[in-house]
Amino acid sequence: MSRNTSDKRHFLASQSSQTSLFSTPSQTPMPTTPFLEGLDHLVLDCDGVVYVDDQPVEGAADLIACARSRDMGILFITNDMTSSSERIATRIRAVGAVAEAEEVLHAGKAAALYHSAQGHGNVLVAGTKDLCTELLSHGVQAWNTHEWQKTTAVDALLVGGYDGLAFTHLDILLQAWQPNMPIVTCNLDRTFPSTSGPRLGCGSVAASLAYATGSTLINAGKPSTIIFREAEDLLGPGEVGIVGDTLMSDIAGANLMGWKSAWFRKNGTPHDGSADPDIATDNLRSLFAGL
Ligand SMILES: [Mg+2]
Repeated sequence: MSRNTSDKRHFLASQSSQTSLFSTPSQTPMPTTPFLEGLDHLVLDCDGVVYVDDQPVEGAADLIACARSRDMGILFITNDMTSSSERIATRIRAVGAVAEAEEVLHAGKAAALYHSAQGHGNVLVAGTKDLCTELLSHGVQAWNTHEWQKTTAVDALLVGGYDGLAFTHLDILLQAWQPNMPIVTCNLDRTFPSTSGPRLGCGSVAASLAYATGSTLINAGKPSTIIFREAEDLLGPGEVGIVGDTLMSDIAGANLMGWKSAWFRKNGTPHDGSADPDIATDNLRSLFAGL
């Protein structure tokens, strides 16, 4: 799918003309036409774009409503792997937007689809009950660490972070691992925020297994093409645009897929060079202004 070349040129021209492009919100490059113009599908990151914890993000519900009024396909895509699609849809509805569980693609579902496609019949999981249920719904027998027996052979390991995950659980995955057995992680996030400060993300947890086994992790979450290709399959043909707040996951994945991308840049977040958004904005309403 082609990118919006005029917006892309605008971004690149602005980028080349100044060294501190992202230093202040006033320097944010703005599109000459609304971001939604010309799109068939809108993909939205959830955390940081639709909601932050249980608080709505200003303009998100109206952006979604505008896209629906234009009969655009909608997909919510998130690296969250601890909840079901229905729970995530409920969180989205709580901010005042319309959302159905079928419109949610989370990293746990992407991992389940990957295991199913690879023919992994038995997978040992360090993750939540919802994550195991997701695998089961896609025909994959998921074994939690507390129920797995050493006599049960598994085809792959899956790591999904959750409250209460301990190294003792990872020891069980390590003991089940055999040479060349795939280790899948729901995302490569190093940390995630909490009210008490940063906490180890799923990627950091999975990295310990990769180090212990000498394996290369298979990432099912953003920015992997595993989850982005699944998003395209769910949406069908047409021009896709994504709105995300994280360059190295949302925008980097969009770059790989050739999607149009809007970086929701908040609080003067510096551009780290990890991805190349078509536009950047600190105001979601600017993405549909005038439509
Ligand atoms: Mg986000």
